[in-house]
Amino acid sequence: MNPYLIDYERERQRRMQSLRGAQTRSAGSRSGRIRQTEETAKRQVRNIPGQATAHDRKARTAALARRRRIRRIRRFAAGVCLVSFLLIAALLLMTNGNVSAEEKSSLRKTVKIEEEQLNLPSGSTVQGLPAEQFAAHPAWTENFLTPNEYSRPGEPLEEVKNIFVHYTANPGTSAVQNRSYFEQQKDVHQASVSAHFIIGYEGEIIQCLPLDEIGYAVQTRNYDSISIECCYKAKDGSFTQETYDSLVALLQWLVDVYDLDTDDILRHYDCGGKKCPLYYTEHEDAWEQLKGDVAAGQKK
Ligand SMILES: [Zn+2]
Repeated sequence: MNPYLIDYERERQRRMQSLRGAQTRSAGSRSGRIRQTEETAKRQVRNIPGQATAHDRKARTAALARRRRIRRIRRFAAGVCLVSFLLIAALLLMTNGNVSAEEKSSLRKTVKIEEEQLNLPSGSTVQGLPAEQFAAHPAWTENFLTPNEYSRPGEPLEEVKNIFVHYTANPGTSAVQNRSYFEQQKDVHQASVSAHFIIGYEGEIIQCLPLDEIGYAVQTRNYDSISIECCYKAKDGSFTQETYDSLVALLQWLVDVYDLDTDDILRHYDCGGKKCPLYYTEHEDAWEQLKGDVAAGQKK
């Protein structure tokens, strides 16, 4: 054999061998790598989820705890806010109440002072008159008639232009008896008759009607006047001194509170011609004297 060929053949075989070896090694190493990769993959498939779960659980627990903490803090903060708000609201309400009460009282004082300065009535009225003026009336017994269409119709007396003086036309009867006569009209229905006041012959005064209600005393003037009945003993119809004095005192007060003139004091006689009060229809001078006495005792 040609030595070159021999050499060539040897070389070829060596190459072949080495190539095979390399192939085998390469194959082995490849399969090893594949196996390794597969194992790693398997391990990863097995292990990674496992490791991830534990980690996640921890993370989730931590997150939950954090969330719970935040929720607790938020709840606490909200509670604090609510309590603070309620406290502030309560304080404001209390303060406002005090302030408004103080303001009201000071306002009332101011109004009262202004009213005094202007000489106006301060608030309340009694029987249509300012309470202070009403309180200055002469002593009387208030004994209102029972409301009824014959003697106390209950209609309002909205203005007072005159004061009428009467006599009972029944000598020797007392103020109480004459009040009973008015009162019984609600049952006996004999007459429509009444008066705001009756003055007894001992000087006692009975108030039968409130001053802001009409009576039935002077047919055409019941809606703008006040009437006073006077008891008497004397046949001529003259009044006792006690009746006279009480009448003058009552007229003075009425003229004053209704801002009238003594000429606004009239006899029943001056409106309709009836002889009432008898003595003062027959004694003009006595009537003028009575009005003069009223004027003399007046405050103005
Ligand atoms: Zn009369």
